[in-house]
Amino acid sequence: MESSYDFLRHVLDSITEHIVVIDEKGKIQFVNKSWSSFGENNECMMASDWSNVNYLDECDKASAMGDDFGSEAASGIRSVIEQRNQFFYLEYHCHDPEEKRWFMMRVSPFSIEKGNYYVISHQNITERKLAEEVAINLSKMDGLTNIPNRRTFDEFLHTEWKRCIRLKKTICLAIIDLDHFKLLNDTYGHQSGDECLTRIGQLLKEFTSRPSDICARYGGEEFALVWSDTSLKQAELLSVKLLKKIEDLHINNKNSPVKQYLTASIGVTEMKPTRNSHEKELISRADSMLYQAKDRGRNRVES
Ligand code: GH3
Ligand code: MG
Ligand code: MG
Repeated sequence: MESSYDFLRHVLDSITEHIVVIDEKGKIQFVNKSWSSFGENNECMMASDWSNVNYLDECDKASAMGDDFGSEAASGIRSVIEQRNQFFYLEYHCHDPEEKRWFMMRVSPFSIEKGNYYVISHQNITERKLAEEVAINLSKMDGLTNIPNRRTFDEFLHTEWKRCIRLKKTICLAIIDLDHFKLLNDTYGHQSGDECLTRIGQLLKEFTSRPSDICARYGGEEFALVWSDTSLKQAELLSVKLLKKIEDLHINNKNSPVKQYLTASIGVTEMKPTRNSHEKELISRADSMLYQAKDRGRNRVES
């Protein structure tokens, strides 16, 4: 019969979590097999020979070299040792060139007669993180057109607005509304309408070339384009070009009183954001320009 120590050692070595136990000074007292083999196979901060290694010192060294994990881990572990926190956990990434990897570090204390000890475990949470990334990306996109949705647009505009205040730059917004789209649906069916929205979405992507630009499905058959640090003149030119490209797609809309092809109306506006203004104003101005374009016969840009 193996001793109970050996028995527990086997249990701990069979666990996939990397486990290291330190004392109050940070000195390593124990590691399990997953921990040492991870160290052997990866250029991690600690060698696999852990005797006489101080975990906290190693974290501090990594931190001094600019490693965020090192500084966050060290301060978290100290907060448990100094009893400012009962537990500590930290999610971090440790990507290697071939794959993305994330881990969760947990620190939990225990006390025996000899003193206080701290179990630090590192669990691989890559699967969950990848699923989260997929879900986040999905939640940002419009399901039909595969361009950013309204929520993403709102968040983007809010951030860009603040950035333009700081940099004293102008921001332009174009709202695009397809003309007589209801007629297109009524004439060719809702599915044709859907396909056409998707094509328009793809076309809009061609009009965003910089990280400070965005196109989005604003709602129904309405789209939006934001161009930061762009003059109204440039935005007008881009909008006219877009209008022409939509017409050139030659998407049939034979009952439309405007043209036998699908057309659009665009309202464009420019603002220089200030601390006293709000991005809602930009939207409402572009909206009223759009109504003007509709009023004045559609298939046109108003700014
Ligand atoms: P206007 O020129 O004044 O803009 O006329 P319109 O017909 O385009 O505008 P209206 O607001 O009357 O109708 C919008 C239409 O867009 C009605 C609605 O069914 C259609 N629509 C909105 N979202 C979708 C969608 O996801 N798929 C399809 N196929 N149609 C949609
Ligand atoms: Mg509309
Ligand atoms: Mg419309």
